Amino acid sequence: MDQKTDHLIPGPQGHSKFWQNAHLYFDRVYATMNLDPLWRAVLSTPKRVLTVSCPVKMDNGGIQVFTGYRAQHNNARGPFKGGIRYDDAVNMDEVMALAMLQTWKNALVDLPYGGAKGGVVCDPRKLSMGEKERLTRRYTSEIMPIIGPMQDIPAPDAGTDGQIMAWVLDTYSMMVGQQSLGVVTGKPVTLGGSVGREEATGRGVMNILRKFLATQNKKLEEVRIAIQGFGNVGSHAARLLAERGATIVAISAKEGGLYDESGIDIEAATRYYKENGVLTDFPGADAVSNEEVLTCECDVLIPAAMESTIDATVAPHIKARIVCEGANGPTTPEADEILRDNGVTVLPDILANAGGVTVSYFEWVQGLENFFWDIQKVQDELQRVMERAFDQVNAKADEADCDYRTAAYTIAISRVAEASRLRGLFP
Ligand code: NAD
Repeated sequence: MDQKTDHLIPGPQGHSKFWQNAHLYFDRVYATMNLDPLWRAVLSTPKRVLTVSCPVKMDNGGIQVFTGYRAQHNNARGPFKGGIRYDDAVNMDEVMALAMLQTWKNALVDLPYGGAKGGVVCDPRKLSMGEKERLTRRYTSEIMPIIGPMQDIPAPDAGTDGQIMAWVLDTYSMMVGQQSLGVVTGKPVTLGGSVGREEATGRGVMNILRKFLATQNKKLEEVRIAIQGFGNVGSHAARLLAERGATIVAISAKEGGLYDESGIDIEAATRYYKENGVLTDFPGADAVSNEEVLTCECDVLIPAAMESTIDATVAPHIKARIVCEGANGPTTPEADEILRDNGVTVLPDILANAGGVTVSYFEWVQGLENFFWDIQKVQDELQRVMERAFDQVNAKADEADCDYRTAAYTIAISRVAEASRLRGLFP
């Protein structure tokens, strides 16, 4: 079984490996916390999961039925919030696991949100703009009963972008009969989006890595970085890190990667990727496999593609001393243990990639107040939130003598558990 589909194999409990991994990370930390065991199931079970079918008229005159999901994990701390993913590997277990991760992430950076995730099983690269618009509008109308500015606020994730959020916004607003800018974030700026949202996840990755390096008396200028995935997260992280003097020695997209020990010209590679949709054949760097990008000579590895790409097979060969998780759930628990045993520091997803949802929160607040910030304020506030979260995780890791993932989960779970305890069980 190849690496891409391995995480979809139903496990002994009938769930995919990725779902089991998300639960394993939660269960391990919950067991070490002084919390009521009776709440364990409440905190780890999604509150609601909706499956919808979306029949769409295709350009060739046919009709294709797409399956979509919206999983709402926990809303003890505020409205549900989380992205919508368009990918052909989307499945119910994946959105449930991602929704749970989102709950911990939102709590860790202390946003007044619960966690959710949605997805549609499709390859967006194979859909025309018209087909994507009709699919998005139909999916929005199907999940309409459970989303809303104070209920559940979607945002972009892998395979979706500001244009798709604009269609979600328009469809929702048409159906409720009033403008509802707060129903999604990651919208285009002309429709009430926030400046700085598009690059926010990559910027947060940069903030966290720079902050961690400072604890080692190191600077970005001194590190060589490999990045897996060159979409929203990976490409913005690459640009922002390169602008600050880091050497980006390797990058990759689905079809393959590039390596240059003297540093890849990120601006040129970004232009090339936008024009060609692939990185292979980019002149000015050597073509390498995706596995070679993960295991190349570098100081920092940033997985920014999909979940479970760092597994027990690849982990022993990783040469980076720091793994900074731009993607959600890129490291399996077995790989996490191998990296820890090998002395590799992992800056966990719920901390490192929280920049996107943080600026989404700023966007939502700006929309509610109808008062919009300038780019400097967005960047300063993002840095403040990310660095505060890092300091809290760092302090917890010192105090409990544990790794950063355990520290981050401990903080996040205790916040959600406390909110749940105070609210009590309904009825
Ligand atoms: P995207 O669709 O913009 O880009 C994904 C990139 O990964 C593409 O370049 C694709 O070619 C590449 N890719 C896919 N599979 C790969 C593989 N096996 N090897 C190498 N490259 C591969 O997606 P994105 O929005 O950048 O999201 C990437 C990850 O970051 C996802 O896990 C997502 O959940 C997470 N994330 C995204 C955001 C956000 O704001 N977009 C926020 C937090 C976390």
